[in-house]
Amino acid sequence: MHLGNVYCALLSWLAAKSEGGEWVLRIEDLDPQRSRVEYAEQIEKDLDWLGLKWDEGGSKGGIYTPYYQSQRQEVYDYYFRLLQQQQTVYPCFCTRADILAATQAPHLGEPSFAYPGTCRNLTEEERSRKSLLKKPSYRLKVPDETVTFKDGHYGPCQANLAQTCGDFIVRRADGVFAYQLAVVVDDMLMHINQVVRGRDLLESTPQQIYLYELFNASVPEFYHVPLLMSPEGSRLCKRDKSMHMGELKKIYTQPEQLLGLIGAMCGLIDKQEEVTVAELLHEFSWSKLVKHDINAYSFAKF
Ligand SMILES: [Zn+2]
Repeated sequence: MHLGNVYCALLSWLAAKSEGGEWVLRIEDLDPQRSRVEYAEQIEKDLDWLGLKWDEGGSKGGIYTPYYQSQRQEVYDYYFRLLQQQQTVYPCFCTRADILAATQAPHLGEPSFAYPGTCRNLTEEERSRKSLLKKPSYRLKVPDETVTFKDGHYGPCQANLAQTCGDFIVRRADGVFAYQLAVVVDDMLMHINQVVRGRDLLESTPQQIYLYELFNASVPEFYHVPLLMSPEGSRLCKRDKSMHMGELKKIYTQPEQLLGLIGAMCGLIDKQEEVTVAELLHEFSWSKLVKHDINAYSFAKF
């Protein structure tokens, strides 16, 4: 994990615990190319070190086992087939280049990456002919109407899926289910009623809400949190080596020091001092959390 992951995990734990909820650890290892067992083990070690205990999930298991997305393919497949039966998904044979070419020179103010619907109305004959040449991805048809929802931290939000993203992928051409489908299915089956995550996922929330509606499931409360940024103004990522847990633990040798850094960065405590998770829980309220993105480097010690 890097500091951004730890920060999100902490806020999600605090939010759940401040309402007497249970905190679930789900390992989102959908993409076999980017996932390794050691990564999941390290996440659990880091959470343990910080004192963030999870009530179910991970290697601990629970009533909705398995909590590893890589082991839940059959579940996603079942719901994918439901969508197929509803005729809300269709195969898409476009390459990235095809989509870029079809969306070039968009009208002013129009997002340039909304899928233009190229494969939505192919005939069965065209589909079988194209599938001889290329394995398709599968896209969900979205309506040209506005989805509205209230984010717990940022307030009312709205989006028109047809205009912002167009029909979106629920299964990739290599058979891997898309994040959008997997998280909705998991949250629905695991009875998740509160989701806390980075603001970068705010824009994909309407896609997920639309999926909940198709499955007739109740939509959880969403709380998006500001992002941790590098001085260049980009979101913290793997490249920010000094922000990896391994590096941070060399400077912040006690969990209370790292918790103090995060608490001060996001406005939960006034100054950077050692705190425990229990003390932060006492201080936690959504109204204290800042709304602007945070330059993590201006707080961290090196
Ligand atoms: Zn297509």
